Amino acid sequence: MPHSTLIEDKSVSSPPVPGAFDGIEKSAEIAVENQHLGGERPSLVGLTRPLLADKLKEIGVPEREIRMRASQLWHWIYHRGAQDFDVMLNVSKTMRTTLAEHFTLARPEIVSEQISIDGTRKWLIRMPSHGKHDRGAEIETVYIPESSRGTLCISSQVGCTLTCSFCHTGTQKLVRNLTTAEIIAQLIIARDQLGDWPGMTRSVSGITPNAERAVSNIVLMGMGEPLFNFDNVRDAMGIASDGEGLSISRRRITLSTSGVVPMIPRAGEEIGSMLAISLHAVRDDLRNELVPINKKYPIADLLDACRAYPGVSNARRITFEYVMLDGVNDSLADARELVRLLKGIPAKINLIPFNPWPGSKYTCSDWGRIEQFSDVVFNAGYASPVRTPRGRDILAACGQLKSETEKLRARTRLMLDSGIGAEGVYAFRRRLSSYRPCVNRSLSAKAPIMPAKQ
Ligand code: SAH
Ligand code: SF4
Repeated sequence: MPHSTLIEDKSVSSPPVPGAFDGIEKSAEIAVENQHLGGERPSLVGLTRPLLADKLKEIGVPEREIRMRASQLWHWIYHRGAQDFDVMLNVSKTMRTTLAEHFTLARPEIVSEQISIDGTRKWLIRMPSHGKHDRGAEIETVYIPESSRGTLCISSQVGCTLTCSFCHTGTQKLVRNLTTAEIIAQLIIARDQLGDWPGMTRSVSGITPNAERAVSNIVLMGMGEPLFNFDNVRDAMGIASDGEGLSISRRRITLSTSGVVPMIPRAGEEIGSMLAISLHAVRDDLRNELVPINKKYPIADLLDACRAYPGVSNARRITFEYVMLDGVNDSLADARELVRLLKGIPAKINLIPFNPWPGSKYTCSDWGRIEQFSDVVFNAGYASPVRTPRGRDILAACGQLKSETEKLRARTRLMLDSGIGAEGVYAFRRRLSSYRPCVNRSLSAKAPIMPAKQ
């Protein structure tokens, strides 16, 4: 299908009708308008450059100073990780006082931190309330240290509107898009917790890589479908890759999509990250079942969009993710078909052992089968790494994330906000998994100061 037709498909930009479920997508229950992290005084953390400039205008900073002041703040917030205006010594005392009167540098609250036996960390983060009756959505962010790099797995939505049958996040009922600030706050929190700002002492609890930065890479593989929250993901990745701030190069950012075909060309042009596709099946009938968005955008269209992905080359290959489900998609005939389908696309194939979760109906292929499958792919000339499951003991591995936010259902909240209705009923009781045998620290507000690394 030509791309012009794909881009004009409006179905992805218009949200589904509230309450609708077409067998492919659940509807997102609330849209969050305000872009700053809430609170009585808005936080400047997570704002784009233009929004930061707007905030300065709002408090009466003269027009001729706005650019310079915004650059100073940008440096302190995103390069140095400042948590207090008082450390900004190149900003006048009067200006610092004015800033502190109107704004904060607050991050969202860390509800808990778990550290797996393999060093993987998972943070449950509660976003500030976006209304009187919203207790704030909860999302999960995972940090995966390796010897020479550290990867942060970021969420783009609370839950996911899609319903892939093997994915825990897909079973979460409440869904909303994260704002740009909420997406980028995950990286900021990780840097805070890991001591990963210039001049800070690196955290010694858990493992961090032997590299300049504890967080060197980002994967948009947490909760949610990033291409259904396009603008906020694009703006957040713009902040993450800004060379005067967080400085994570776009080549070290990988966006994973279930296959929102019409948005793939824009992802290449406007986000410019590496692309990963959750393929998981080589026939439409099976993919319809595993990744239901395939009913809208079948395999052939998806692969056409990959062939045309801006910037794709042998040096910038597309990663195809393939979850290994015992007896479902793991035959050697499937492996051969996979190789045939990807012919001509600069590709890497990432085999992911299925990560089980409470109530899931699949089991993972046995190791011998994964090896045979991998051999077929490898012999056809593709790198075929098997992704080592990380943090399984803390339910932090791919597809295991799910937070049950303790909050009012959107409709109840809206009624209460507009003065209708009696006492609120919390529709969702927190049921954080009982499956957490390792380090599990509840943090009331801030993380403890980490001792110095020896
Ligand atoms: N929504 C996006 C990104 C988040 S999911 C997407 O679907 O691509 C990140 C990866 O984890 C995807 O490849 C997804 O298919 C895979 N995944 C989901 N559930 C899994 C599970 N239980 N075991 C292994 N991988 C899983
Ligand atoms: Fe959503 Fe991705 Fe999970 Fe599918 S695999 S339900 S798209 S998070």
